[in-house]
Amino acid sequence: MAHQKTTVDDHEKSAVRNIVAIDRALLFGPWLICFLIIALVGNLLLKERRDTLSSHEQSATNLRVTISSDITSFLNVAEVLLKDVIDDLTFGAKMPGRAHHQLLERASSYLPSATYLRVLDTTGHIVDDVGENVPADMSFADRDYFLVPKNDPNVGTYISAPYASRLHGGVPTFALSRRISNPDGSFAGIAMIAITLANFEKLFTELRLGKDSVIAVVKTDGRVLVRQPSEPDLEIVGLDLSSSPNFKRLLAMGTGTFTAKARLDGVRRAYFFGPVGKRPLIVSVGIAVDEIYDNWRTRAIVIAVILTLICVALIALSLALRHELRRRAIAEAHLAALATTDALTGLANRRRFDEVVAREWRRTRRTGSSLALLMIDADHFKHLNDTYGHGQGDTVLRALGGLIASCTRRAGDCSARYGGEEFAVVLPDATLEEAMTTAEKIRAGMEDRYGDKAAAGRAPGTTVSIGVAFATAKADGEVAQLIEAADQALYEAKNTGRNRVVTTVEI
Ligand code: GH3
Ligand code: MG
Ligand code: MG
Repeated sequence: MAHQKTTVDDHEKSAVRNIVAIDRALLFGPWLICFLIIALVGNLLLKERRDTLSSHEQSATNLRVTISSDITSFLNVAEVLLKDVIDDLTFGAKMPGRAHHQLLERASSYLPSATYLRVLDTTGHIVDDVGENVPADMSFADRDYFLVPKNDPNVGTYISAPYASRLHGGVPTFALSRRISNPDGSFAGIAMIAITLANFEKLFTELRLGKDSVIAVVKTDGRVLVRQPSEPDLEIVGLDLSSSPNFKRLLAMGTGTFTAKARLDGVRRAYFFGPVGKRPLIVSVGIAVDEIYDNWRTRAIVIAVILTLICVALIALSLALRHELRRRAIAEAHLAALATTDALTGLANRRRFDEVVAREWRRTRRTGSSLALLMIDADHFKHLNDTYGHGQGDTVLRALGGLIASCTRRAGDCSARYGGEEFAVVLPDATLEEAMTTAEKIRAGMEDRYGDKAAAGRAPGTTVSIGVAFATAKADGEVAQLIEAADQALYEAKNTGRNRVVTTVEI
């Protein structure tokens, strides 16, 4: 309740208190909204990122399965051919040239990529040299495609490591070989199909991959058969990954996927890999991580930039709005304060007094409390005015206002300028004694400062006469009765000599 001198600062504080909810909403709301939008969009982008990966995963897996089944078919046909050759052979005898040619024809129709089909004896020499001028003393007994079936009767169809062909100018080649055993199980030689890596790679050259993505077919011992695209400075023959951590990991997992940086070229790839049927081969499709997320990243950056702009704009806008709202609230509070404040004394004005006294009157009757009202009038004020001038009169009125305010400091008290040189004080819940004490304090204070003694006879002094009215909840009627009673008491104070307090005990 505005009953004391209030300052502009007080009004500002109370104005901001009044808009505290909207003030907070404007201060924190945009941050919260931005946070929610970012969380939502971030979540969507992460989901899209996962979807991107899984769609790549799907196509890479499809590719891997297709390659595996192509290689399986290829190996199966080659194996059947090798078995046919071995079945057709009369052990220990040389294969008739015609039969060999027929087989080669069959081989080239079934297996266009096969370079040659050949039988070696127990010493690694070619059994039948049809159409090829192989030096008679040339032995292939040192090759793994010869040694492995020789030493392991149960190896089945052996897939060799890549080697540089001795007969064809060092062309990178690999071979499929099977052991030929005598009826007693002893070693009788091998049958083999040689395939140049260039021919074998034709299985993959049609496949379209991203710039930094690779397809690799690797033997389980770590020897690479194919790496597409082949790099000019990457020597596939002899390339051995058995010591590479990625290869070890891949071998341990069998089928699956992981992301790693390639040792060969330093590119980070997601590898999707699996075995080729039951063969000791692994197909691995490696897609460069950068390629997987290329489109996604561009989109994510655009969205992030737009989102940042929106958030910055939202926050800036709400701060500007908050600033304007505060300014208006303060201006309104200021106007409201002016509308209820007396300009000269800073006390409540007559309008405010009317509101407060009516409200307190109702409250008294509702709650059963009491209500005291002081009517204060300056004595012989006209005289003072006439003597010193209006300006001096105003100074005294301001001083009287300050004195009244200082004597009525309880919460709920309301001191007002009633009009002219007349003041009123509403004292809710005060006892009669308290009201009289307050009135006496004001009277005595005024006498001390402006009474005739203080004026020292040089000029007319002024004192105050005070009428006190007191009402309890039992009082009937209207608030006007209380005011009337205080007025009556004041009138009596004037009539009985001024500079005194007169009390109407109860109305
Ligand atoms: P009484 O003791 O009977 O109250 O005598 P009084 O002279 O105080 O009473 P009266 O009502 O005849 O005169 C009141 C004077 O108060 C008249 C006016 O000049 C002066 N007055 C009223 N409002 C103001 C004001 O705002 N400033 C000044 N300086 N004087 C005012
Ligand atoms: Mg008067
Ligand atoms: Mg007067």
